[in-house]
Amino acid sequence: MMMTALKQTHVRISRLDRTLIAAVVLLSSVFPVELFSNTPLAPMGHDGQYSGKQGQVLVVKVKGEEQATEVKGTFLSRTIPFFREFRPGEPAGYIGLLGIDMQDEPGTYELAVEVKQGEQAKQLTFNVLVAKEKFAVEHLKLPKDKVDLDERSTARWKAEQQLVRQALAEDSRLKLWHSNFVEPVNGKRTGIFGSVRIMNGQARNPHNGEDIGAPMGADVAATNDGIVRITVDHIFSGKGVFVDHGLGFYTMYFHLSEILVKDGDLVTAGQIIGKVGATGRATGPHLHWGVKLNGARVNPYALLDLPFKNGVTPSTSATIPTPETTPTSQAVPVKE
Ligand SMILES: [Zn+2]
Repeated sequence: MMMTALKQTHVRISRLDRTLIAAVVLLSSVFPVELFSNTPLAPMGHDGQYSGKQGQVLVVKVKGEEQATEVKGTFLSRTIPFFREFRPGEPAGYIGLLGIDMQDEPGTYELAVEVKQGEQAKQLTFNVLVAKEKFAVEHLKLPKDKVDLDERSTARWKAEQQLVRQALAEDSRLKLWHSNFVEPVNGKRTGIFGSVRIMNGQARNPHNGEDIGAPMGADVAATNDGIVRITVDHIFSGKGVFVDHGLGFYTMYFHLSEILVKDGDLVTAGQIIGKVGATGRATGPHLHWGVKLNGARVNPYALLDLPFKNGVTPSTSATIPTPETTPTSQAVPVKE
């Protein structure tokens, strides 16, 4: 069974190879490719191609005058859909946002981009160096029952996780967001995305978003256009909203005191979707803002720094810095 499967795969690859070689010859003049990084924050990859730190977002551009049927990349088993991008006075092309998960192991990995144009396909490969981010270490003190879950709470937490996974299983195929991202709440960002968390002396999962300190009841805005995929009231996140911005890009807003939207609502950038609160596992009012980009947990502030201001991307793309984080052994008041 296994052998048969392997043989079939081999035959298919050989045929594919021939198609690809033909396609590369035909398309090489149509799709010159540029991956650029003007201000690399980490050493360049072996062949000088691309690099970024854990939790960052890289902007990848494939230039192409012709309309392709589909352009998509694969990076560490995650699929990165590319979208058409027009810029006045510049050749048209395709943009992909490559999220580096906060826990991707440092190292060099391949980014494979497939450009399909009708029956023809072209495969492009690049090396991306994932550099280590120096995440903070946080020591938190929480009521014992909020950290050590009993059997019933554990079961609830697992069921809730499953519910969210199901709700986000199917990515919208349309890009719903546009160039201008909005900070969801005016407050103090704590700079603790990715921080290693020690709760009541025990190491726990790293912090997968950014906390923004704000007064109880402050307005929380959607960072961009999208569709509300699911609203929840869960054990850890409290009252939360998951917004789907299309093409595998989601933002999350947790610990709300009030939710002002419902599942399936279309929202626009800046629209108030809830109020700051301290529901779920939180020690005080704040917004937990999280982002999932094609399966990668990235720093939400990387979105605000994306070079897409005023509806266009600049002539050079850049890696997106994460805010400087300093290891700390201080207890921080507002968390989770
Ligand atoms: Zn948080």
